[in-house]
Amino acid sequence: MSTIVAIVGRPNVGKSTFFNRLVQRREAIVDAVSGVTRDRHYGKTDWNGREFTVIDTGGYVIGSDDVFEAEIDKQVELAIGEADAIIFMVDVEHGITGMDEEVANLLRRQKKPVFLAVNKVDNNKRAADAVEFYNLGLGDFYTIAATNGSGTGDLLDAVVEAL
Ligand code: GDP
Ligand code: MG
Repeated sequence: MSTIVAIVGRPNVGKSTFFNRLVQRREAIVDAVSGVTRDRHYGKTDWNGREFTVIDTGGYVIGSDDVFEAEIDKQVELAIGEADAIIFMVDVEHGITGMDEEVANLLRRQKKPVFLAVNKVDNNKRAADAVEFYNLGLGDFYTIAATNGSGTGDLLDAVVEAL
């Protein structure tokens, strides 16, 4: 089994956009491992010469705008169980939500390396707004824009360093 990096977070923060950016360079999307629920997408990628499998978690079954909190919690627990590192994605456009706080609480209680990625940081104002995410109590974070790749290199440098 290869090294696994899971992307978790509430719907619409940009998880799939980031996942697609990561795996498109390889175009080697792996089908869901049998026995694993279909609401997870697996893809192979590499960064700085380090290969790993990335998991995009999400409510593919229920629908992205109507995912129950319990479903997010389940995805986070699965990620904690199987991933070697976890990218917790949040969205500066909407700021901190109750669901973000709940995910942060789950992640704080475990030992896997967690990288907080504040997505949709498309301009300087949003970069300044991102400071609110210190309130999640997870320490430092990476500001990224999954749509154009801005900041994602620094994030991935740190992630593969931890693998
Ligand atoms: P997911 O539900 O977490 O997988 O989120 P998606 O990847 O489906 O993205 C949700 C929405 O956010 C889509 O409309 C994306 O185009 C948008 N989005 C993703 N990344 C960015 C970004 O860096 N900047 C902006 N402005 N929008 C983004
Ligand atoms: Mg998605």
